[in-house]
Amino acid sequence: MDISTMSLKELADQLTKKTVTSEQLTQACLDRIQEQNPEINAFIRVAEDALEQARAIDTRRASGEQMGPLAGIPVGLKDNMLVKGQVTTAGSQILEGHVSAYDGTVVSRLKSAGAIIIGQTNMDEFAMGSSSESSHYGITKNPWDTTKVPGGSSGGSAAAVSAGFVPFALGSDTGGSIRQPASLCGVTGLKPTYGRVSRYGLMAMASSLDQIGPFAKSVEDVMTIMECIEGQDPNDGTSIRLDSTSVPELLEPSVAGLTLGIPKEYFIEGMDPEVKARVMDAVVVLEKAGAKIEEISMPHSEYALATYYIIMPCEASSNLGKFDGLRFGYHSMGSDLEDTYRRTRGEGFGSEVKRRIMLGSYALSAGYYDAYYRKALQMRTLIKQDFDEALKRVDAIITPTSPSVAWGIGEKFNDPITMYLSDIYTVTANLATVPALSVPCGFVNNLPVGLQIMGKPFDEQMLYRIGAFYQSQTDWHKRTP
Ligand code: GLN
Repeated sequence: MDISTMSLKELADQLTKKTVTSEQLTQACLDRIQEQNPEINAFIRVAEDALEQARAIDTRRASGEQMGPLAGIPVGLKDNMLVKGQVTTAGSQILEGHVSAYDGTVVSRLKSAGAIIIGQTNMDEFAMGSSSESSHYGITKNPWDTTKVPGGSSGGSAAAVSAGFVPFALGSDTGGSIRQPASLCGVTGLKPTYGRVSRYGLMAMASSLDQIGPFAKSVEDVMTIMECIEGQDPNDGTSIRLDSTSVPELLEPSVAGLTLGIPKEYFIEGMDPEVKARVMDAVVVLEKAGAKIEEISMPHSEYALATYYIIMPCEASSNLGKFDGLRFGYHSMGSDLEDTYRRTRGEGFGSEVKRRIMLGSYALSAGYYDAYYRKALQMRTLIKQDFDEALKRVDAIITPTSPSVAWGIGEKFNDPITMYLSDIYTVTANLATVPALSVPCGFVNNLPVGLQIMGKPFDEQMLYRIGAFYQSQTDWHKRTP
């Protein structure tokens, strides 16, 4: 049985009919990981008890228990989500060997749904990056071409689904870290509306921007996962009670009559013309099916990257203050307390993390706060207003997910500004707190291209409808490396 091409629904059907057991399914994933992970490095840890978890689910099923759609299905988790008793490091040396004391909310929800936690996927250190090259645990390679990056920061989760190691995975998205690697690896990825999924037990990068979301092979699979992980959580005061939930059965199979906005500011000079062509092909598919396409303007888009690269480091510098060598993780003894801090943080953090801590501390310091941080917050409001205005007129906004396809390993690693530019289309959704979906929409030089669909806060249903309709008309999401 080739599990690498099966949808969650197909897998769940097989498990329910007992034509396959969770143990067999989990073993098939483990075999594939063992065979191909040494090259791809999507997983940095595999749970020792994966088969044990699977057998426990098989036993419950055999006893006649009714089980949900994820029961017995293996999942990969980005290495920044706490799993009780398992090592979780956020891809950093500073947390090497750190054992989580509790389950994050998404993890406990996955466990109650019977999903098999198969291990931790690689990521840029503390989710800072767009290429999965800054992990302390080595780089992850793109399954479509192992000389290329998989995108980041959740590159391990994207590569794990793309390579068929697991049917689905979770990542976190602060400025594009689900959508951009989904795009570069040819899988479907969703950044939910801020507040839709609890962040409790997610190692924070920038708390006002972070959201957890799924990687899967189709929009329908994404909905199945969301139905399990979304919803209000008393442990996260920013999570919100939902009026509408993600239920695949509620999908409307049409885009006729919808108005879709194409922001002219997103088709900038410098983007790969071939990527633009694939995105416009996708727009034609939607237009032919009866969607009305309208050019719109989002005038503050040009300030989005600058705004993001102030707000994110400010929040990150504050969030990362707790890694002091005393409370958890790596410790390097100095001559006095301050020297201990200096050594621990100097040795334990990689250079991208240190760069952002310095940027954030600087922008928050007396005298610069007004010039940088406050200005960035004001600009964030204007960017949010661009979205509010546009989404009064259109049902959703269509853009590329990334200005280019996957680039060569090492190509941008020593040039942070160029690396930051690759986030140009994704940071706006986090700043505006709107949901955004990336679906595969073609290839350039045999590398996948992603189409981004953004919508009104908490209107994920609209993104599912457009994305699922597009996937019913095309087969890009079914291609495998
Ligand atoms: N690539 C972006 C950055 O480096 C986004 C990261 C993320 O979403 N975690 O900040």
